[in-house]
Amino acid sequence: MVKIGDTCSFCGKSRREVNLLITGISGAICDECALQAYEIVQEEIPKKRKNGLGLNQEDLAKPNEIKSFLDEYVIGQDDAKRYLSVSVYNHYKRLLQTVLKDDVEIEKSNIIMVGATGTGKTLLARTIAKLLHVPFCIVDATVLTEAGYVGEDIESILTRLLQAADYDVEAAQRGIVFIDEIDKIARKGDNPSITRDVSGEGVQQGLLKLLEGSIVNVPPQGGRKHPDQKMIAVNTQNILFICGGAFDGIEKKIAQRLNTRVVGYAASKEVAMVDRENMLQYITPADLKAFGLIPEIIGRLPIITYLNPLDRKTLRSILTEPKNSIIKQYIKLFEMDHIKLTFDESVYEFIVDKAMEFKLGARGLRSIVEAIMMDAMYNMPSGNTKKLHVTLDYAKGQFEKTDINRLQSA
Ligand code: ADP
Repeated sequence: MVKIGDTCSFCGKSRREVNLLITGISGAICDECALQAYEIVQEEIPKKRKNGLGLNQEDLAKPNEIKSFLDEYVIGQDDAKRYLSVSVYNHYKRLLQTVLKDDVEIEKSNIIMVGATGTGKTLLARTIAKLLHVPFCIVDATVLTEAGYVGEDIESILTRLLQAADYDVEAAQRGIVFIDEIDKIARKGDNPSITRDVSGEGVQQGLLKLLEGSIVNVPPQGGRKHPDQKMIAVNTQNILFICGGAFDGIEKKIAQRLNTRVVGYAASKEVAMVDRENMLQYITPADLKAFGLIPEIIGRLPIITYLNPLDRKTLRSILTEPKNSIIKQYIKLFEMDHIKLTFDESVYEFIVDKAMEFKLGARGLRSIVEAIMMDAMYNMPSGNTKKLHVTLDYAKGQFEKTDINRLQSA
């Protein structure tokens, strides 16, 4: 019997007849066939792209499949996951439809996620990017300013997308952009400013153009360092925008709205049901407006969703459960030095307690683990011990040695 790995599964030549035989789980490929396959890929993929996405509807991950994928990496946040999954799925459907030139035009549903920092907005965006068949980039709204001011022009968002698409304009025009910290460009104060507003309304107006769908001239290298570069025209009509922001203090505006609306007996019952710990779940476009987003922008972000604050139980899950959880990452790091790392269950509880105590959020979990493991990470790779079991006493001892102020908060 011929064993897998003895002959090329494509041409049947034996290991001796070829220069290189690469074996896989249930087959093998020789260098010649691999080269040929590469050439076919080079030829076929651009053709597929021309026909649209290189996808058909059956190939698309359904919203529940997208959500299951997100579940592997992000704990909780079911609402945001559901909205995001549907949004991305519909984005693909829209793209397929434009290819088919149907007469009913599906409008783009850009989405806005509201949630305290460190609750998983960027993580959601990054995770979804792993699954995507379209170019994707993350940009930070805080660096954006109106043209002519220090900072980045709005168009730089599209520069990023172009870079993510390897300057394939067609592909970039179907991409997804995640704009983080969108709340930082809110208008300060309720009065529309009469002077130019560097960081607020002017930027929103600029952003509006992108969200609305227009043709924008984009400097391919970004920024002002390359004044002579030739602009590339990018049509934003089919680009999906996902925005995220903490909207600090918006809970107050939500509470105000809920309180003023309530009059009479039925209403007071409604107020009694309000979950004061998590006001964000009641967010509406009106609250975003009260916070300082201009109505036109809000109109272009028709889907609003929220992220829950992370409670103790969620933090505990975040520590060990996601596919690339912090603890799994450390075990892997040690494994690379052939050291078996294990923890007492009580250590996990200790880490979560400290994160809660110092209000460090999910980001703090990493800094705490880092503090506990630092000595071992420094010493063990050059030692002979091949096992480390972290007990509660060890963890406490190591943690006490660290300067709490240096632990990064969310
Ligand atoms: P945000 O963008 O909301 O400020 P991030 O997505 O950057 O927050 O979260 C910071 C880090 O905290 C992430 O890299 C991740 O390690 C962890 N984290 C936050 N929320 C979650 C969650 N729901 N599930 C898993 N990990 C999370």
